[in-house]
Amino acid sequence: MPELRRDPITHEWVVISTERAKRPHDFARQSRTPAQQETNCPFCAGNESKTPPEVLAYRVDGTAPDTPGWLVRVVPNLYPAFGPASGDLAAQKDGLYQSMNGLGGHEVIITSPSHTEDIASLPLEQVDCMTRAYIDRYLSHKANPIVQFVHIIQNYGRDAGASREHPHSQLFAIPLVPELVATELEGAQRHHTERGSCVFCDVLQEELRGGERIILENERFVVFAPYASRVPFEMWLMPKAHRPRFETMGEHDVSAFSAALQEALALLRNGLNDPPFNYWIHTTPTQMAVDDVYHWHLEILPKLSFAAGFELGTGIMINSALPETAAAFLREKRAIAT
Ligand SMILES: [Zn+2]
Ligand SMILES: [Zn+2]
Ligand SMILES: [Zn+2]
Repeated sequence: MPELRRDPITHEWVVISTERAKRPHDFARQSRTPAQQETNCPFCAGNESKTPPEVLAYRVDGTAPDTPGWLVRVVPNLYPAFGPASGDLAAQKDGLYQSMNGLGGHEVIITSPSHTEDIASLPLEQVDCMTRAYIDRYLSHKANPIVQFVHIIQNYGRDAGASREHPHSQLFAIPLVPELVATELEGAQRHHTERGSCVFCDVLQEELRGGERIILENERFVVFAPYASRVPFEMWLMPKAHRPRFETMGEHDVSAFSAALQEALALLRNGLNDPPFNYWIHTTPTQMAVDDVYHWHLEILPKLSFAAGFELGTGIMINSALPETAAAFLREKRAIAT
């Protein structure tokens, strides 16, 4: 019988469809053609002139901006969804209709000069650099009074919306708090009012006690399959300690976060044959003070299924994999790999 599960944070329901349940192996995709070197890639070292001028780069000493010699490079998106960074929001209402200017920012964070190596396969120090670039650019946009939320994402693989093969993340600085984050905040506030505790910390405690949905952990971070996973092999990466804001991570957190992210993505790649995925960071909106209530996390959603009429029309996802089975499968892959 299909089982309805409710997310303890958002209170949204998902259908875990055991009728349709497949074995984890069935989600492994056909082998994907690995990324091929291309000569015209604007994100490759040597092609810096093909992008707008860099806004940040960690460079080998003595190398000039917009030339090779960088480890991580951040450039404005050529076709920004948000921007410029300042101006008149011109928020207005016209009868039922509301509008404002899409001020803010939209940047590309190029993971490394390598066209073919990504987070799962790069040296860990390189992933640390990427994480530091996330934080540096986050802080820069947070200082802009127009910006209310900074959304950092990665789309991996064409089926997950990556328009370029060269591994990269994107940062969106936006002039409002997005609905999904508002829903999580509302849920977290409700839980805090009722029980006086952080719902994310409580979920983590429950997960660590049971253990059946834990995928991996290190000294500071845990990766688990959420109880009400919306898609097969959904994973959440969360700091073990209560941390409301992503951008306040110290050096030790940066390395532990990068290591956990790398390991989670390597498990996906090795266990499921390199599937496309999207990940994003949910953290406290830049201008809010909800330190006791909210707890930052990174959500990874592999693209192994798609939302159709039921999901789009109801907002209720049908997930054809049991989160417990998915977690056990990935744990096993990890045991084999280590
Ligand atoms: Zn490239
Ligand atoms: Zn917490
Ligand atoms: Zn979230």
